[in-house]
Amino acid sequence: MRLSRYFMPILKENPKEAEIVSHRLMLRAGMIRQQSQGIYSWLPLGKRVLDKVNAIIRDEQNRAGAIELSMPTLQSAELWQESGRYDAYGKEMLRIKDRQDRPMLYGPTNEEMVTDIFRSSVKSYKDLPLNLYHIQLKFRDEIRPRFGTMRSREFMMKDAYSFDLTREAAEHSYNKMFAAYLRTFDRLGLRAIPMRADTGPIGGKLSHEFIILADTGESEVFCHKDFVDFDIPGEHTDFDSVEGLQAIFDKWTSLYAATSEMHDEAAFNAVPEGDRLSARGIEVGHIFYFGPKYSEPMGAKVQGPDGKEHFVHMGSYGIGPTRLVPAIIEASHDDNGIIWPASVAPFDVVVINMKAGDQACDDTCELIYAALSKAGKDVLYDDTDDRAGTKFATADLIGVPVQIIAGPRAVANGEVEVKDRKTGARETMTIEAAINRFVA
Ligand code: ATP
Ligand code: MG
Repeated sequence: MRLSRYFMPILKENPKEAEIVSHRLMLRAGMIRQQSQGIYSWLPLGKRVLDKVNAIIRDEQNRAGAIELSMPTLQSAELWQESGRYDAYGKEMLRIKDRQDRPMLYGPTNEEMVTDIFRSSVKSYKDLPLNLYHIQLKFRDEIRPRFGTMRSREFMMKDAYSFDLTREAAEHSYNKMFAAYLRTFDRLGLRAIPMRADTGPIGGKLSHEFIILADTGESEVFCHKDFVDFDIPGEHTDFDSVEGLQAIFDKWTSLYAATSEMHDEAAFNAVPEGDRLSARGIEVGHIFYFGPKYSEPMGAKVQGPDGKEHFVHMGSYGIGPTRLVPAIIEASHDDNGIIWPASVAPFDVVVINMKAGDQACDDTCELIYAALSKAGKDVLYDDTDDRAGTKFATADLIGVPVQIIAGPRAVANGEVEVKDRKTGARETMTIEAAINRFVA
């Protein structure tokens, strides 16, 4: 992408409305724009990051055996009346009427709809387990939308829903998502700690919030500090192995970790003092086993091996991609801007032409741009006629992991400078070596 032809509206000034660093940087880097309170457009640079985040989420959902579909944002109120949640949901639900005066709503979540899809076609235990997910916009009329897309009214969610014959089978489905979440957040460059969450009227232990430690987080959390170094399940994890996944779950729930709602002071104090971590955190995912809570009122049942009908045991599993993007920035930035983990960076490399219009600089940049693009890299080529200082500031702000800098003096020697955004280390090398670093 040539910057001169791209749309990346950088802000020079710090936006006054932004209270936390991720919001400030997303606005300054031209990633998002607020359209009305808590409702955002994702501008091209932001959209690239969001797409990469979603690709990783999707990859790990698929690996764990979940199947993608797409459900609509607008739902009929009828389904919610069946489950009893239409009245219970309160003011967070945006309720609308169509031209026939039929009550509709903008979905805040999809348990009812997916249960309806399930009951319309699955009749036998032989079709289980089943886990269906989508990545879709949701709307919740939050009392206090804030921090940009961290807590917005319209936001994106990956929500998966599992269906099983028995509680035991549902626990395995839960463990699959548990392991998939550990892998997902790790690939996003984050350390997320599963913490026990409130299960409400269902009871039991099967609800976890995945929390990233960050000073600007809205949740107060307490955990054992060893979680910070726990191993992440590898890519060859066998998701069909009941024992294997149970072992992962057991390990990751063996030490104390809870948010303030579930905090047990006495249990926390039993952790040796030097191992206690009390901090603030951002909830980026939430998984939940809720048994027949929706299948019963909505009549979602299958025939079991015993020939009888059974209400299915369900779970739901949410991740917030539009919250994850600012969460990644909270975890990875410096005074000059964002530092993207390579896995979600909007571009792999930015080529900076320090003197656009200078034949040697232009030729060198074009050569590098073409070679890296051909090698399948996402390259941003800063071919604008801005001052070098402005270009450096922009490159640092938008956080692309590697900068290739072509200035007249180096280029005259057949060389360029390669800068690592994270460490700031600069290295002078031949043009060929710079290209090979990515192509090889
Ligand atoms: P919170 O406690 O932060 O309000 P929640 O518990 O209501 O979130 P869930 O219903 O568990 O959220 O939703 C699953 C995921 O969706 C959350 O873990 C979070 O990543 C994301 N999410 C929820 N609400 C919002 C929001 N208002 N803006 C952005 N992302 C959100
Ligand atoms: Mg939650």
